[in-house]
Amino acid sequence: MPLVETESVVLKTHDLAEADRIIVLLTRDHGLVRGVAKGVKRLKSRFGSAFEPFSIVRVEYFQKDSVELVALQKAEIVRSSFAAAGDPDFLRKFSYLGDLLISFLPPHDPNEKVYRMTRACIEVAAAGAGSLLPVGVYFELWLLRLAGYMPDWSRCRDCRRELDADEAADLLADLHVLCTRCGRAASNRTLHPEARGVAEAARIMAPGVFSLEMAGREADLVHLSAMLRLLISSALGREVAGEMPLPLHT
Ligand SMILES: [Zn+2]
Repeated sequence: MPLVETESVVLKTHDLAEADRIIVLLTRDHGLVRGVAKGVKRLKSRFGSAFEPFSIVRVEYFQKDSVELVALQKAEIVRSSFAAAGDPDFLRKFSYLGDLLISFLPPHDPNEKVYRMTRACIEVAAAGAGSLLPVGVYFELWLLRLAGYMPDWSRCRDCRRELDADEAADLLADLHVLCTRCGRAASNRTLHPEARGVAEAARIMAPGVFSLEMAGREADLVHLSAMLRLLISSALGREVAGEMPLPLHT
């Protein structure tokens, strides 16, 4: 039974037995991991307050080949999100984003890019007021891209022509785009050129820079996010709940 040591992000916790909890972690080295933290609810727990939502913690756990749940042994806070998680908007946004990770990622499948992107987004959102909207859109885009669901929005699906920077596109049911020449005039799903510009900016920028660059572009971010929700729903095969308030301990 090997002892694993890795950095991780706390995504969610569920009550288990009297003093125990299941902790859902996005680990850097082993992807999504669910672990039992025995005695975590006791006053003098060895885990202290390490498992606050969206904190970055270094954990040690025992992994048995045949069992999906790992046995958490140690947790040490690398970076606490305690202050930020006191803000209901932060909590709602990251509960939603954490649920997306849990839905998209298979367990025990390491993906360091997703890990680094998640950690960076939490750090930017925790540090800067007003960054939740751009950080959320950045996260949705990158998760779709890294999970392999992001269509190429730079070219028309049918004629393969590269879209002009100021060209509106039709978003199709398969979530590819058509140019103005191939598109239907009465499309009810238009992907604005500004939203494609936002998506391109997110592709090349770090989340902190992106968040600053997007100041004053709320309408474009909201439009793009609505389009990304369609992609997410289609990828998951169900409607996504969006940012409904989610209970943390269910
Ligand atoms: Zn075309």
